[in-house]
Amino acid sequence: MKTISNSRRNALKWSASALFFGALFGGGVYLAPRLHAREILLRPPGALDESGFLATCIKCGQCVQVCPYHTLTILDITHGSSVGTPHVEARVRGCYLCDLLPCVLACPSGALEHAITDATDVHMGVAFLKRPDRCLALRGVVVTKEALAPLLAHSHKNERERIVLEKIASFEGKACTLCADMCPYPEQDKAIGMTRDEEGRWYPQVRSACVGCGVCEEVCPVAEEAAIVVLPRESYAKVYG
Ligand code: SF4
Ligand code: SF4
Ligand code: SF4
Repeated sequence: MKTISNSRRNALKWSASALFFGALFGGGVYLAPRLHAREILLRPPGALDESGFLATCIKCGQCVQVCPYHTLTILDITHGSSVGTPHVEARVRGCYLCDLLPCVLACPSGALEHAITDATDVHMGVAFLKRPDRCLALRGVVVTKEALAPLLAHSHKNERERIVLEKIASFEGKACTLCADMCPYPEQDKAIGMTRDEEGRWYPQVRSACVGCGVCEEVCPVAEEAAIVVLPRESYAKVYG
């Protein structure tokens, strides 16, 4: 009887999960305009469940104003009933889980739950290596200047943002560990860490403390769509359990 090789098994494992979640989260491209009202958005830390959030958010933009990383943006009319509400476009800028969560403190309506006071209380979603075939670590490819250029073109309006860019720049010429090393969760290795698969190849392993902040998706240096993405409103138990 034929035995399946380790590399074939890994390829199947990666592609099966990528296909499943690709269909679930990426398959609706052509239907996107019609589905906007129901799209699953990445909301700021502490956001109530989506219907509660939509009913409670007064669209004042206070959370957007206080965010020192310029993470939060206001949705426009193309997002249906979500118009005027804040969200995180992870590929552009993730949430850096600031001390005391100023966005939550600034929210006057309770749409961002005031009981959430610490990064470890946050549940925005969960990270997922959606495109393992593109991951530089799995491919054994070092991070080039060209790969970092789009990330380094991000505007930096203050010291915190400048430090982010400086850290990103330091990965040039190295094996890619950007998603794991830039993760802002306080006990980083409980949220994500580089580990080896059965073939001995390094890859980012998402772990149970991941809060779905989106920073790994932001800093993934592959062109256009990131290899690692955040699944908004999903939990570790549901995706990996
Ligand atoms: S925790 Fe900080 S970075 Fe994240 S959305 Fe709130 S203010 Fe912005
Ligand atoms: S940032 Fe992470 S997912 Fe993206 S290429 Fe590097 S190791 Fe792979
Ligand atoms: S693994 Fe990614 S989404 Fe999860 S906490 Fe770390 S940077 Fe955020």
